[in-house]
Amino acid sequence: MLITTTTKELKKALKTSTKIGFVPTMGALHQGHLSLIEKSKDDNDLTVCSIFVNPTQFNNPIDFEKYPKSIENDIYLLEKMDCDIVFIPTIKTVYPKGLTKKEYDFKGLDVVMEGKFRPGHFDGVAEVVLRFFDLIKPQKAYFGEKDFQQLQIIRLITRQFKPSIQIIGMPTLRESSGLAMSSRNKRLNEEELIQASFIYKIVQNIKQKNLDDFQKMTFLIENEFSKTKMELEYVSVCEEATLQEAKYRKLNEKYRIFIAVFLNSVRLIDNFEV
Ligand code: AMP
Repeated sequence: MLITTTTKELKKALKTSTKIGFVPTMGALHQGHLSLIEKSKDDNDLTVCSIFVNPTQFNNPIDFEKYPKSIENDIYLLEKMDCDIVFIPTIKTVYPKGLTKKEYDFKGLDVVMEGKFRPGHFDGVAEVVLRFFDLIKPQKAYFGEKDFQQLQIIRLITRQFKPSIQIIGMPTLRESSGLAMSSRNKRLNEEELIQASFIYKIVQNIKQKNLDDFQKMTFLIENEFSKTKMELEYVSVCEEATLQEAKYRKLNEKYRIFIAVFLNSVRLIDNFEV
């Protein structure tokens, strides 16, 4: 496995490859990330994983500073997966002209949820992903449904700016407790991990009621969260395609419940098909 921090070395290593799969990450890798690597390995001749904690997508400097890092273990896991290249650039390499951020038109996909509560977040995500696409020129790139709004936004900007790249969405991997795997879980202690598993448990419980009235559904979920130690930032049922909030179920339309919570200072997100 080539481990490189420079674009020169990266480009040289990519020169002869025809089918390149790309998995962008922020490190602190877990099985969820590795499932994307595995899929890319199956689909392509060469897999590139990037590890880069992108400052421009953090609107909270403490969140950026405290983002978990475990680079040695990440490299160990990627070696074990037989990943071909891991690209670990510095901030200066990704942003040689400084931390500038463009504003993108996400056609309304960003006005809700993460876009609403983390202003500018998706501009930062789009910028860094497009920079990596330019550099790596993959045929396919892999993203998790864990960040479903991000996945839809990446699909949109790829159609707009890099139509030859295929975006592959992959299902969310969960702990046996139901908690979605996340690098941020590394910041939770044992008691908090139990608390956090209630995100899954509460939603599964309410989903069983098969409600078509989504306002009622979110009301019931809010009520359940008020009994926990988690602070609910938002719960919203949205159409998958447009991410617009939906009040009632319509025939032939796909929906997801989206949730963001704070557990002490750690912010967790998740989403579920309904
Ligand atoms: P991150 O390092 O958090 O930026 O995530 C890198 C990629 O892994 C993103 O496309 C995420 O959506 C995906 N990912 C994160 N957690 C999971 C998970 N539990 N299951 C599947 N994919 C995930």
